[in-house]
Amino acid sequence: MPPPGRKIYQIIRPILLILGTLAFAVGISPAAAAKPAVTSVRIGDHATKTRIVLDLSGKMPFELFSLADPYRVVINLPEVDWGLDADAVRPGKRITGFRFGLFRPGQSRVVIDVARPVSVANTFILEPDGKRGYRLVIDLVDTTRKAFLQAVRRAQLARLSATRSPQSALPTQPAKPADSRPLIAIDPGHGGVDPGARGRSGSWEKSLTLKQALELQRQLLKTRRYRVTLTRDNDVFVRLRERIAIAQRAGAAMFLSLHADSIANRKVRGGAVYTLSERASDKEAAALARKENKADIIAGIDLNEQSKTVAKILIDLRQRLTKNDSVTLAKGLVKELRGSMRLLKHNHRFAGFAVLKAPDIPSVLIEMGYLSNREDERLLRDLRHRREVAGAIVRSINGFFARQQALRQP
Ligand SMILES: [Zn+2]
Repeated sequence: MPPPGRKIYQIIRPILLILGTLAFAVGISPAAAAKPAVTSVRIGDHATKTRIVLDLSGKMPFELFSLADPYRVVINLPEVDWGLDADAVRPGKRITGFRFGLFRPGQSRVVIDVARPVSVANTFILEPDGKRGYRLVIDLVDTTRKAFLQAVRRAQLARLSATRSPQSALPTQPAKPADSRPLIAIDPGHGGVDPGARGRSGSWEKSLTLKQALELQRQLLKTRRYRVTLTRDNDVFVRLRERIAIAQRAGAAMFLSLHADSIANRKVRGGAVYTLSERASDKEAAALARKENKADIIAGIDLNEQSKTVAKILIDLRQRLTKNDSVTLAKGLVKELRGSMRLLKHNHRFAGFAVLKAPDIPSVLIEMGYLSNREDERLLRDLRHRREVAGAIVRSINGFFARQQALRQP
């Protein structure tokens, strides 16, 4: 059997050739015990090029491609540990944003936002030279939009022809018919390469939403009245529509998405509950939905194919019924949460959140507070506060199902 490094190489070779990649590292030892790591990053801005250097713990395969609207350059790596400082990369001439994290199990990713069309002039791995270890070097130079789009298209085609089996071929898990208890889907916002908002003292939205989700799961299971599924239970990126699909495959009776936003005005604090609407209740809600809907763009995903499906889902009649349930759920949440956290004045709002578009599952999105506010951030990091918030959510879920049951009685 060929070593796995060779196999990966065969799959992504066409892409690398098309992108004009000249050098490529092969030969990772299959027996390598320690997880490979990216230990630091340096950016050098020059008049005609911007050089990105990633310090690596060893040789590793990589894949490089670009995405348009907004302009992004994406580096796929094997699953690595990150020793980088998120603040180490300051916006410069060409680079306006830099993110990294787990994209899916086995694959890590770096997403670089660029201000204008660029092309990859050089990419190579430098061998250790005594002073430094292995380095992945990427040179970006300016190009035209037309040339950029052509490169994106070519890379798309290469990726398509290199794909072995479509993801939809994965077996779906049938819901357990034996257990009729309602299944609650908890969706910790963001994750992996999409960190979400940043707190004033440095905490990331993605890790606070996960902590709150795990606490909520614990309390729900303790009641023995519910089953629980999480759209993610570690620091991994999950696409917005995949989050809905996970809930649907599991047969969820309810979908709760957890978030904690950040805004320019550091004095503003308080949570709110959101339900889906094609028409937003106010400008802030619309802006928030636009921001949350960007998760896929942030993680370096091509969105070209999916907008039509979403539009179709939106007009589904089924969704009108679900919408009423979502509103009932949101009202119950506001009532219970009021006792355990500060809420905004308009605490139930509507907007077009992509993650709430399951036509058949009552869905709400809870913004648990503002990470841009010191007090809100402190509370979100506090275990006792998390327990109280989870308790309030459990009570409102109890109320929701009690009401549904009452309605069904003859
Ligand atoms: Zn969020």
